[in-house]
Amino acid sequence: MQKGSIGVTTENIFPVIKKFLYSDHEIFLREVISNAVDATQKLKTLASVGDYKGELGDMKVNVTIDKDKGTLTVSDRGIGMTAEDIDKYINQIAFSGAEEFLAKYKDNANSIIGHFGLGFYSAFMVSKKVEIHSLSYKEGAKAVNWSCTGSPEYEMTDGDKTDRGTDIVMYIDDDNKEFLEKTKIDGLLKKYCRFLPVQIIFGKKQKWEKDKYVDTDEDNVINDVEPLWMKKPADLKDEDYLKFYHAIQPGQDDPLFWIHLNVDFPFTLTGILYFPKIHNNFEVRKDRIQLYCNQVFVTDSVEGVVPEFMMLLQGVIDSPDIPLNVSRSYLQSDANVKKISSYITKKVSSRLEEIAKNEPQDFEKKWNDVKIFIQYGMLTDEKFCDSAMKFALMEDTDGKFFKIDDYKKLITTAQTDKDGNLIFLYANNKEEQYTYIKAAKDKGYNVLFMDSQLDPHFIGLLERKIEKSRFERVDADVIDNIIRQKDKKEAELDPMQRNIMTTMFKSQIPAMGKSEFMILFEPLSENAQPVVITQSEYMRRMKEMAAMQPGMSFYGELPDSYNMTLNVEHPVVKKIMESAVAELEKDIKPLDTELESTNAAIKAIHDAKKDDKELDEDKKKELADNEKKAEDIRKSESEIITKYASQQDKVKQLVDIALLGNGLLKGEALNNFLKRSVDLL
Ligand code: ADP
Repeated sequence: MQKGSIGVTTENIFPVIKKFLYSDHEIFLREVISNAVDATQKLKTLASVGDYKGELGDMKVNVTIDKDKGTLTVSDRGIGMTAEDIDKYINQIAFSGAEEFLAKYKDNANSIIGHFGLGFYSAFMVSKKVEIHSLSYKEGAKAVNWSCTGSPEYEMTDGDKTDRGTDIVMYIDDDNKEFLEKTKIDGLLKKYCRFLPVQIIFGKKQKWEKDKYVDTDEDNVINDVEPLWMKKPADLKDEDYLKFYHAIQPGQDDPLFWIHLNVDFPFTLTGILYFPKIHNNFEVRKDRIQLYCNQVFVTDSVEGVVPEFMMLLQGVIDSPDIPLNVSRSYLQSDANVKKISSYITKKVSSRLEEIAKNEPQDFEKKWNDVKIFIQYGMLTDEKFCDSAMKFALMEDTDGKFFKIDDYKKLITTAQTDKDGNLIFLYANNKEEQYTYIKAAKDKGYNVLFMDSQLDPHFIGLLERKIEKSRFERVDADVIDNIIRQKDKKEAELDPMQRNIMTTMFKSQIPAMGKSEFMILFEPLSENAQPVVITQSEYMRRMKEMAAMQPGMSFYGELPDSYNMTLNVEHPVVKKIMESAVAELEKDIKPLDTELESTNAAIKAIHDAKKDDKELDEDKKKELADNEKKAEDIRKSESEIITKYASQQDKVKQLVDIALLGNGLLKGEALNNFLKRSVDLL
């Protein structure tokens, strides 16, 4: 019998392993089974190159629980180990600076285990004693037993194993009894071993007989040894991809598209990524892509390995070249990982481009489902954005789809303004903005439909990407002002007409919280609406941004300011103005004359003032009196006009119709409008 101390520089690593690695206890099973799988594959390789000439026989890995003995055993029929092998690979573990390292990475058992080749020793996280019973494949090898109770002392004796391979027997300690439960182990095997390349057997398949489950003769195979991503894409059908998807993501709708990744230079990577059907709620769940290393499940948090926007995808990535045993921050700065990440991005965009090109109808049909993914990618990933500009679609208000370049061509002639800016018109609500959409279409313009959560950001992005372009919502102004084709014709109104019309209309707008209105005059065509309410693109965007970002409350506090544009070419407006002027002129004109002379007096006082000298008391009083007088005159004018306006049902009606067209007429104001409409009939 050989006795000895495991070669570690630290006095006793086992308490350290137990103490620090508690969070990831369960990975011991993955480690021990991976070793069994490796040993099995090594023997297969030796056999295939002729270095092993014996029989291979059954090469499955068996996992068994013995509740009475309190053991969990992993058995393989791989290469096995001689006493020398155990000495070399198990007893001597290079472990310098262990404590320092453990302290640093105490939260990440993966990193420690991989870093020091501690895979096997992770069994001590859950065991009070571990035994190895092994018989090497080598000719004339002697069986060997090794046992260790979690102190650096081990015992090694001749063994009695007659069958080639290794049994790792773990005596589960009292704190970890759960690992003797069938359901627990079953769950772990399904999580970590589901796609291992060697069959993993856990007991027998069961069947229902009379009143309980009983074992059948059939092995309960945990894994699929040849997962789909390892197969050649050319050999696979759509059904295969769908079936695999539903196996890894149970309970989901069919995916929209998928991409089979397959590269072996300059790094090795395989995998399948699916575009899930995302339901209205835009949630980024971070556990949708599973990361494997040679078919061993490693993690389902892939931050750093794939760009953030890809986290919306689902599926698997398998690569031995992703350094799994390092911290996340290291992972993100790793050159290989960067290459992998940009490879995946490129693959995803070229696949999308291919679908858009070869199956345009299918792509259009699915556009609204992939849109959020593509827009999010374009907004967050410069490179993806550049390629996606080629295949991203725009939808117009008639439900037609266009590639960005095609759309540009479509609108260039009609929608370039006199300064050479290309104006993209859009609506985000086809019902509410119906009148504006129609007005634009009547002019021969096209209106896009952009109503998603990301569209406001996407618009900003496109304005940056497309030179000399501007996006304007159809209700941002009267259409002739949004796309100004020639120099603007001004409305020819004299100051008195302006004053009367402004006061008249403004006074008849029902009170609406924090909304403010400015009255504007435009000589639009006779057929255009008499009164149009718009909100400037700039103001609206500021308010929308403010609503999304807490830091911009200043804009959020601002009142909603609208423009009410009166079409002075419209017969009804013309008529209203003519009648009002005819009726009010006799009262307003003298007041205007008086106001003029008062203003002249105010100006004279200011003009006479020597640069920085204070006005003397008399002058100060004179100024104040005149200012008061001017204010009073304006007030009387306003009262006269308002009184007149309040008797003009047509003014009220026009105001209300404009508000109604904008969805702004509500409550009592709406009720008044309905009543008045009936009365007018
Ligand atoms: P790693 O697997 O990272 O090399 P481990 O501590 O898990 O580190 O294992 C150390 C070595 O012990 C392995 O490289 C292998 O040579 C040997 N070994 C472990 N388990 C087995 C097994 N079931 N069959 C044969 N050899 C094994």
